[in-house]
Amino acid sequence: MKNVKYLECINCGAQYKPEKGRYTCDKCGPALGILDVIYDYDYIKSKVSKESFANNKDYSMWRYEPFMAVEENGPKGKLRVGWSPLYKADVLAKEIGLDTLYVKDDGINPTSSLKDRASAIAVAKALEEKAEVICCSSTGNAASSIAGNAASVGIKTVIFVPGRAPQGKVAQLKIFGANVMSVQGSYEETFKLSAEAIDKFGWYNRNAAINPYCVEGKKTVSIETCEQMNWEVPDWIVFSVGDGCTIAGAYKGYLDLYNAGFIDKLPRVAGIQAEGCAPLAHAWAEKRAWKPEEENTIADSIAVGVPRNAVKAIRAVEASNGVWETVTDDEILDAMRFMGKHAGVFGEPAGAAGMAGLRKLVASGVIKKNETVVCAVTGNGLKDVVNAIKAAGEPIKVEPTSEGLEKALTQIGY
Ligand SMILES: *Cc1c(COP(=O)(O)O)cnc(C)c1O
Ligand SMILES: [Zn+2]
Repeated sequence: MKNVKYLECINCGAQYKPEKGRYTCDKCGPALGILDVIYDYDYIKSKVSKESFANNKDYSMWRYEPFMAVEENGPKGKLRVGWSPLYKADVLAKEIGLDTLYVKDDGINPTSSLKDRASAIAVAKALEEKAEVICCSSTGNAASSIAGNAASVGIKTVIFVPGRAPQGKVAQLKIFGANVMSVQGSYEETFKLSAEAIDKFGWYNRNAAINPYCVEGKKTVSIETCEQMNWEVPDWIVFSVGDGCTIAGAYKGYLDLYNAGFIDKLPRVAGIQAEGCAPLAHAWAEKRAWKPEEENTIADSIAVGVPRNAVKAIRAVEASNGVWETVTDDEILDAMRFMGKHAGVFGEPAGAAGMAGLRKLVASGVIKKNETVVCAVTGNGLKDVVNAIKAAGEPIKVEPTSEGLEKALTQIGY
């Protein structure tokens, strides 16, 4: 990996070689000693330019390979991950009160969430290391994502999910042939059990916070958005936050582009958490250190009481002069309808939480009308049918007669 200088502990600054089996800092341990990939930007600049991207026909996240910590032209999974649509959502913008709003629909990925970007990296690393099994614990989407991406190259998966994971996501896992451990406990307990099993069997570890490479995959959402905006940098990017890896990655994408000379400013970052589980947003609002919280929200993908990547997430918001916001479950359900109706984009609760937060930030004047915003939809609405139905409500029942039809049509104003 000529583009990578070393891995650096975000807690103590210790440097490590990016060797097989290296996940966290020895001195700080796996909870605190999360590693960051430090790149050689001169090398990256020698490999890519705005012109080379314009001529690149690989419409997947791998067009940004020089920005990722994988072997050059090394083995990859087979699914097409990334290059998701970026919509200029004019109707939605007007409804919210913004001049310019882009919606990045990452629910369009092969297993229908942004997690595919991290899983694609995990599979590439597992192939490099000739690992036979990949293990992960997840609130659901990382699980179905790694299961699908690993299945595409015949790698086995053992997946730990909390018992509350939505049926659709668990079904997805089973379809992809994963060995699924449904842990009858919290996400925190689920995470701990997976760590124990990984220790015991030496499986490839795709727990995104601990694995320093997964965030590098997630950052492609931003590099891609920037290219799709013709290298314009928005004033704000808005992401929902659970473990914190996604928002950390989204910020790092812009930081990498900045360091490699593609852009000359950075966006401000808005992190959105569910009110019923917002350890980071609450800590920011109350100007104190974060502490664990209960996991009381329908947005299962961000129901993370003990965020595994708190430091990187907090750093992204702080460094960008950003903000945190919380949204209630009702606001999330409303945002699902609102975004569906005014943009034709269908997010699962965690996928629409960013939009719910954006509405509040615009209403409260934190985000100004003339500021350009990119709001990410991180997962597709069909992943969680129970909550989708909750948000959608029932259709009008029509008697199969002309009178019935007339009666029904008056109800919708015809
Ligand atoms: C995982 C996930 C998030 C949050 O990502 P973190 O890295 O846990 O902060 C948001 N939305 C969806 C749909 C997800 O699957
Ligand atoms: Zn350290």
